[in-house]
Amino acid sequence: MKMQFVSLNPVTKNRKMSATKYVFVTGGVTSSLGKGIIAASLAKLLQARGYKTTIQKLDPYINVDPGTLNPYEHGECYVTDDGAETDLDLGHYERFLNVNTSQANNVTTGRIYQSVIEKERRGEFLGKTVQVIPHITNEIKERIQLLGNTGEYDIIITEIGGTVGDIESLPYIESVRQLKWELGDNNVIVIHLTLVPYLSAAGELKTKPTQHSVKTLMESGIQADILVCRTEHEISDEIKDKLALFCNVKREAVIQSIDASTIYDVPIMMQEEGLDTVALKKLALPDTTPPDLTQWNEFLERHKNPKSEVTVGLIGKYVELQDSYKSILESFIHAGAINEVKVNVRSIHSEYINESNFEQKMKGLDGILVAPGFGERGIEGKVMAVQYAREKGIPFLGVCLGMQIAVIEFARNVLGLENANSTEMAEDTPHPVIDLMEEQKNITNKGGTMRLGAWDCELKKGSLVQKVYHGKTAISERHRHRYEFNNDYKDQFAKAGLIASGINTATNLVEIVEIPGHPWFIGVQYHPEYKSTVASPHPIFVGFIKAVLAHKKQQTNASLA
Ligand code: GLN
Repeated sequence: MKMQFVSLNPVTKNRKMSATKYVFVTGGVTSSLGKGIIAASLAKLLQARGYKTTIQKLDPYINVDPGTLNPYEHGECYVTDDGAETDLDLGHYERFLNVNTSQANNVTTGRIYQSVIEKERRGEFLGKTVQVIPHITNEIKERIQLLGNTGEYDIIITEIGGTVGDIESLPYIESVRQLKWELGDNNVIVIHLTLVPYLSAAGELKTKPTQHSVKTLMESGIQADILVCRTEHEISDEIKDKLALFCNVKREAVIQSIDASTIYDVPIMMQEEGLDTVALKKLALPDTTPPDLTQWNEFLERHKNPKSEVTVGLIGKYVELQDSYKSILESFIHAGAINEVKVNVRSIHSEYINESNFEQKMKGLDGILVAPGFGERGIEGKVMAVQYAREKGIPFLGVCLGMQIAVIEFARNVLGLENANSTEMAEDTPHPVIDLMEEQKNITNKGGTMRLGAWDCELKKGSLVQKVYHGKTAISERHRHRYEFNNDYKDQFAKAGLIASGINTATNLVEIVEIPGHPWFIGVQYHPEYKSTVASPHPIFVGFIKAVLAHKKQQTNASLA
């Protein structure tokens, strides 16, 4: 009887077949504990041991993707090669692991419901009442296993957004519980990230919030396998013992995660704490090969021991929130390390730049980056920043909107095209140097309809940008924009000294502009920051920082002479 039951039960059959192992990372006590960094750090350690690892983020909000969110809501929107607009944690994953992610790596509640509702309309559940359990949870489990079922990975690390106990997170937590039951303990583990706060009045670290949050998780049927405890102070052995006993986890599975000076230290700290060892043990995987972190440590060494420093102005309108320009800031770190220079970023709010203060705001900058963005607010300040960089010979990098602003500035101040603009900012401009593509004109839906993802680009031979890309002629970069350089003006620009040095030959769209007479002036319609990683810093940022450093040296020499 028993044998028969085993062979008839598809769930139990799965248990034997599961080759890919799943690690879930949940969060307790508060948000912003850095689940993404812990997940990425563990993935890095497992990858460095030779395990094929990828990460996935499940977000409990109802937007289908974060593409329609203001950066103030959720930080930067990260774009993958396949054109998915995703959570910024995917940026951390790519930067740490140097492997591409895709649409499958980020799932939101909105997308889950959209898919279930579409199935219902197609009649796939005909006759049945469609419910959170089992329909929504089945959809979640399917999405979780999508990457695992490709057979490409040994381990999938899935980060569950939000905090345990949130109403929104419940279907995800229930799906994890079911998967743990279906696939078996050694195939699925749960890492719970919590906060161990320090009460200065009592002079003590407190474990109670962690106990409560582990209990909340247990109410949903999940026993955490590993606790990662965020803390500002060293957690004593005594407290670790207490956490282990009261939270019902093994002593070796209580991992301290103390504040780090850089996120890039976290994999090393997690290794010292034994996070990878205990995870492998619980997954019943061999831990014989120690992680090879040679390259990572070399990067850290350079990052922490710069030979000089430079200051770059980041001109944008979302500067109040560091996460808005996350990938750009990280790209500076990668490019700084390789150039052995510390890149100080001075964030300048473009809305507060005006005729009377711009010289003063730009003073002391060794390089200027005008950031991506949408809408009219803060545009004129950005135009002034470009003008300053162009006229004073300061290295300039314009990214996406930043490139468009460079074109507008040149049109107004060099070509003399008064009120030249992008039709995004002024629909009735007499000189639409940046304009909407024909095929974009009839699009009314805002979600997922921009030019997104990887597009090819051919570099002009002998251009600065070709040198920056180490002599390559063909590149592919990620996009996220609606408006384009207006080719009607191309010759006029070229004659006056701003050339199109990168073209998408299939569509004839301008991808890169540069000013040959200037020391280093490049505008890119794409987002190089999405592809910069620790192992492979992006050439545009590397080249920019190199030019910034050279500019600073030259200025210093000139002032000494
Ligand atoms: N707003 C501009 C466009 O849609 C630029 C977008 C961006 O900077 N990402 O084309």
